[in-house]
Amino acid sequence: MNIFPQKRPFNPATYAPGINDAEPFYGLPATIEFCSRCTISNQRPNSTVEFQNSAKAKKQTINFDDAGICDACRVTEQKHHQINWEDRREELIILCDKYRRTDGRYDCIVPGSGGKDSAFASHVLKAEFGMHPLTVTWAPHIYTDWGWKNFQAWIHSGLDNYLITPNGRATRLLARLALETMFHPFQPFIIGQRNVSPRLALQYDVPLVFYGENQAEYGNPIATNASALQDQAFFMSQKKPEEMMLGGTEVGRLIRDFGLELADLALYLPIKPEAFENKSVDVHYLGYYLKWHPQGAYYYAAEHCGFEAAPERSAGTFSKYSSIDDKMDDLHYYTTFIKFGIGRATYESCQDLRAGDIDREEAIALVKRFDGEFPDRFIDELLNYLSIPEDHFPIASRQFEQPVIDPEYFNDLTNTFRSPHLWAYNKDQWSLKNEVFK
Ligand SMILES: [Zn+2]
Repeated sequence: MNIFPQKRPFNPATYAPGINDAEPFYGLPATIEFCSRCTISNQRPNSTVEFQNSAKAKKQTINFDDAGICDACRVTEQKHHQINWEDRREELIILCDKYRRTDGRYDCIVPGSGGKDSAFASHVLKAEFGMHPLTVTWAPHIYTDWGWKNFQAWIHSGLDNYLITPNGRATRLLARLALETMFHPFQPFIIGQRNVSPRLALQYDVPLVFYGENQAEYGNPIATNASALQDQAFFMSQKKPEEMMLGGTEVGRLIRDFGLELADLALYLPIKPEAFENKSVDVHYLGYYLKWHPQGAYYYAAEHCGFEAAPERSAGTFSKYSSIDDKMDDLHYYTTFIKFGIGRATYESCQDLRAGDIDREEAIALVKRFDGEFPDRFIDELLNYLSIPEDHFPIASRQFEQPVIDPEYFNDLTNTFRSPHLWAYNKDQWSLKNEVFK
């Protein structure tokens, strides 16, 4: 039986500063490069089909072309200079005309948290395009006070909403396992959020789902941006439930060794293709039809949906209005910094840079100042959430030498996910070998 150990020593020699031929973890590119237009590095992984994801999975990463420019910047170029947005708006009108209902039923589903992007999407579809959206929300791991307030304000702006909250005990265990196996505690949220809209679309017979921006705007393969449709692999699978992976662990094993039942995981499992027989659900990106501008969405949401920025900047970055509803976001971006050398300020500065709101010099300064900042503000609550004490998890806790996470345990675990091609260890200090400002 595979017990998660308490102590995980690392070998400092592997991380000695002079070593330059260290084998990368996660199948990342061995040579680190930065895009010549933004601040992203070639270490950025593409979106993954999470219910197949495991500790051994090799990452597909963002493509850089011969000119050293990343796919996300190439998509931006198309967005600003090639796409005819008037034509795209016409396409959206045609799509809405096809699906719009006047019989009192919903005609589209808009998933979201009530953050700036989902507020913008749902409101604009209703107010400008005459649609009747049902909004659906996959609950965050731990709401921030301002996230909950924004969620309420969004619904009160005039939209129906289903808030889906998965089994909290199962979710905590999945988050812990995803942390241990992949250093990816945000995974349960990603899986749930992708499943929930198609599932509700089937249940309520609503044939159209709108997501916000296409992930290609952030660096997924350019080809995925040419289509308005979302890849069904993210929410549909033919496999048996027992063969799925959740938290980097086979579902069969979650049932055998961790005290869960299949029903505890029902909301996390992908949808069977048969469920779509004789039914059609079209999943589209609104960002394909309307030119997405993050700051513009913020102003729109503030004006029409009562959206308010957080009272403080988020950990590891400079912003106050992007992804602010889940306390787990702080930890999520810290884990990407450890695994890929890419923290929240890198992701967000790239977004603002590509939108034309800041230049590369400013973006680099923001990365230098904020990237990789330890998420102090909620860390106690987060480690408590990720702990699975014996009294609450009598079976699952046996799989861990130390079920309750303290800062020392978290620090040891963190170090095991530092790829030696990215990190150097010298005089008790960790540092990245390559940074965009060096
Ligand atoms: Zn770029």
